Amino acid sequence: MKVVEEQLITVMDGPWSPEGLIREIVESGTQEDPFYVMDLGEVVARYHRWKELMPRVEPFYAVKCNDDKLLVSTLAALGAGFDCASKVEIELVTSIGVAPERIIFANPAKMASHIRYASAVGVDVMTFDSENELMKIKQLMPHARLVIRIRCDAASAQFTLGVKFGCDPVTEAPSLLKLAAVLGLDIIGVSFHVGCGTTETAVYARAIALARNLFHTGRTAGHENMNLLDIGGGFPGDLHSSIREVAEVINSSLEEHFPEGSVRVISEPGTYFANAAYTLAAMVYAIRTVVPTERDEVAEAHTMYFINDGVYGSFNKVAHKQYVCAETVHDYGSPRSACSVWGPTCDGVDCVLSNTRLPALGVGDWLLFRDMGAYSLAIATRFNGFPVATVRHVIDARLACVLKERSPLSASQFVAAPAACCTADAQAECPAVPTPATTPYRAVLGQ
Ligand code: PLP
Repeated sequence: MKVVEEQLITVMDGPWSPEGLIREIVESGTQEDPFYVMDLGEVVARYHRWKELMPRVEPFYAVKCNDDKLLVSTLAALGAGFDCASKVEIELVTSIGVAPERIIFANPAKMASHIRYASAVGVDVMTFDSENELMKIKQLMPHARLVIRIRCDAASAQFTLGVKFGCDPVTEAPSLLKLAAVLGLDIIGVSFHVGCGTTETAVYARAIALARNLFHTGRTAGHENMNLLDIGGGFPGDLHSSIREVAEVINSSLEEHFPEGSVRVISEPGTYFANAAYTLAAMVYAIRTVVPTERDEVAEAHTMYFINDGVYGSFNKVAHKQYVCAETVHDYGSPRSACSVWGPTCDGVDCVLSNTRLPALGVGDWLLFRDMGAYSLAIATRFNGFPVATVRHVIDARLACVLKERSPLSASQFVAAPAACCTADAQAECPAVPTPATTPYRAVLGQ
């Protein structure tokens, strides 16, 4: 594996919490820009939980969700595969030494130059959902191994993807499979994405049943190599959420339609791995008190807090009508009152919370937002010249020891935390300390 040089990881030798570290950082008085605390241990724990609850389903992390190189490198060290949607994402993943066989080019509408690049670096598994894409692939990469993407939408989702991608499994997919056979293209499987952030678990059962029918149709059309089922993303990623229920639905549907040993099953979770690991801190830098007039929608006087991150930065999810919850970094003890929280740009839509209640804040006070790793940094812009939030990566000392050995990260990237640092004693003990009996980390990393 190649070495990931740029980013540093703070090693904590003792109990710590994102909110505690954020408090320490802002109390230093030198921090002005928004920043994340990223807990690499949360990613490891989630990988472990996934493997325990869905042992048959190999996770291929959806890089689009958050392309933070340390997150991607950690997942690579754990053994995950990757869902890439573009040339740049493939470049990122291969640059850290991931083999092309561990990548699926899961974008049904690909640019010609990106297909050529995938072909050049050996990424040959890719999705499609249209006749036009089949013809393009036939011309540019006839040896590609193709996965048909079908549409099967959850009853409700935070982002519905079926409006854009996925052919109809009944009216379109059979003829596409037949066309692929006529063109001599190799179809190896079926994929779907039920939509991001769904609470409907039964949709996976519906989609797996539809996929089963298409395996039959495809094999009848002559596609004898069909052996890959890709169940996409859509899994919950908040700190307090669980994949237990959805895992039960998926496991029993697989048992019914694709018994053990019949096909390889992969998935493309993004939010599940990225969201909970990132906690954002943003500072109040301006305040305006509004006394409502007759034309205002709200009757109560309220305070407008302007913070240094917003909808054009980390809070794109607000534009998708997702709710965010603000907490104060310090306990001010004052009663909560009506307020709104605004991002720094000149645009009126740059509103993070239009109607909430917070203790009275002053300029220089900080707010904290949990579950901020998915579709935040990956989408953030520098609109109006405001910087994108930086990331402070943090790891438990014992886990750091193991990750140093197994990942493309170099030892010099791991730095001791100033206060609760990885002591010289702990460093010396590292290779011997973690055993499967006393720490889950070695087991998680397959040691
Ligand atoms: N796979 C594909 C093809 C996607 O488009 C997306 C999200 O847009 C994902 C996977 C990741 O989805 P999620 O973040 O819900 O896991």
